[in-house]
Amino acid sequence: MKKHQMLIGGKWVDPASGDWFETLNPFTAKPWALVPRGSKPDVDRAVEAADCAYRGEWRKLTATARGALLRKLGDLIASEAQRLSEIESTDNGKLIAEMRGQLNYIPQWFYYFGGLADKIEGRVIPIDKPGVFNFTREEPLGVVAAITAWNSPLLLATWKLAPALAAGNTVVWKPSEYSSISAFAFGELFEKAGFPPGVVNIVTGFGPEVGEPLTTHPKVAKIAFTGGDKTGEHIYQMAAKGIKPVTLELGGKSANIVFDDAELDDAVKGVVSGIFAATGQTCIAGSRALIHRPIYAEFVERLLALAKTARMGDPLDPGTQVGPVTTQPQYNKILDYIRIAKEEGAVCRMGGGPAKRPECGAGWFVEPTIFTDVKPEMRIANEEVFGPVLSIIPFDDEEEALRIANNTVYGLAAGVWTKSIRRALLMSERLEAGTVWVNTYRAVSYMSPFGGYKRSGIGRESGLDAIREYLQTKSVWIDIAGNAPNPFVMR
Ligand code: NDP
Repeated sequence: MKKHQMLIGGKWVDPASGDWFETLNPFTAKPWALVPRGSKPDVDRAVEAADCAYRGEWRKLTATARGALLRKLGDLIASEAQRLSEIESTDNGKLIAEMRGQLNYIPQWFYYFGGLADKIEGRVIPIDKPGVFNFTREEPLGVVAAITAWNSPLLLATWKLAPALAAGNTVVWKPSEYSSISAFAFGELFEKAGFPPGVVNIVTGFGPEVGEPLTTHPKVAKIAFTGGDKTGEHIYQMAAKGIKPVTLELGGKSANIVFDDAELDDAVKGVVSGIFAATGQTCIAGSRALIHRPIYAEFVERLLALAKTARMGDPLDPGTQVGPVTTQPQYNKILDYIRIAKEEGAVCRMGGGPAKRPECGAGWFVEPTIFTDVKPEMRIANEEVFGPVLSIIPFDDEEEALRIANNTVYGLAAGVWTKSIRRALLMSERLEAGTVWVNTYRAVSYMSPFGGYKRSGIGRESGLDAIREYLQTKSVWIDIAGNAPNPFVMR
């Protein structure tokens, strides 16, 4: 098994602890690589290196040169997309087809934000005070801590690194303990692209041992986090002590709403894709299907018919449609939620337990599961399962659909299926979610802001909004009149 090293200050180093831990392949449930167990001394070294790069070489580069490095990195990722996607698929069990798609798309973030690097402009303010010239500068924050979840390791990191670096910050990145291996391969590409040492540092390990000292380090200026809302809340509290800005991309309980005027074949595919793609392990999973009562029975039958065709198996096989769950704790959590849903009276129409098919090997597979007769007050309708478990809830009209959809602490995304433009506009205005898809689902782009309302998060990733998360505004005042005013009166 390969024993990996961490990237700190441009060098590949062993962890200060001298410890490594095994990372498991979710399909075989067997260890396949060794991850350095980072701790506070590694975090301290990485933050110092990032701070030194921020005040030194990185700052001396023009914004155009920074942008060129980001674009070069994009080219390198494009040329390595196949290798990187195989690593991700082996480490987190997501389908090779999905990971290949992500890796082929990731370069676009580096091209887009690379292009944006030298278009960050301040303003000249026509200030109301005679004899004074006033302008603004948009400046980086300093060292950014990026802490990411396991479900789309490189994509989630890219959403932070591309805008943070384009804005002129340096980064210390802590990937998830469950999916660190692709980070090492990614780190090599930063080196190959020619980023100065210390601009990007990678410290692996566990949340309390790496994530906490990183969040609380006095030289870390900002935390960009993707993960569960409980961890996000804890990080927010730690950041508050240091008065640090945060971007938090957290969980969801998104509603996929199907009206009786929808193109039903498309809606059925949209609901299946919303919950069973990526084995339901996406923050934007459409885990609640809200179905208009006139089509309820027909829709459920069509949904079951399509969902039953899902092919489970080896995520590295391009024909597989539903892979394993990434971690054993997550597998147990999903099975717990299935049990709770049954106890609370939801009716299990499909799946409802571990998948014991021969093609599933020794992996952590859960049968794609569909519950009907789900009441909005049940736990399965309110809590994020993060697995292939769908709750179906009927509704009578638009008002009821909105009431059910918005009756959640989360607000990450929502889907609406209708042919009515009036309905599409009404719903997209009144749904409390950072993203609303109409007649489509699970679409993201480097150009369009992504983030949560309510407990799903703070701040936006992607698009022009994202770069603002990594900048601060300075107002510069220059006296051009040359006559010193009364020193005892505010000018
Ligand atoms: P977690 O919140 O468990 O972990 C996320 C990251 O935070 C990991 O790197 C983890 O480390 C780290 N961490 C854990 N504890 C601490 C701590 N005390 N201090 C600092 N860092 C800590 O989330 P999961 O990895 O389980 O990911 C699943 C969650 O992510 C789901 O809720 C999902 O909805 C959300 N998510 C949100 C997205 C969005 O864009 N809104 C996208 C994708 C996922 P460790 O390595 O030890 O786990």
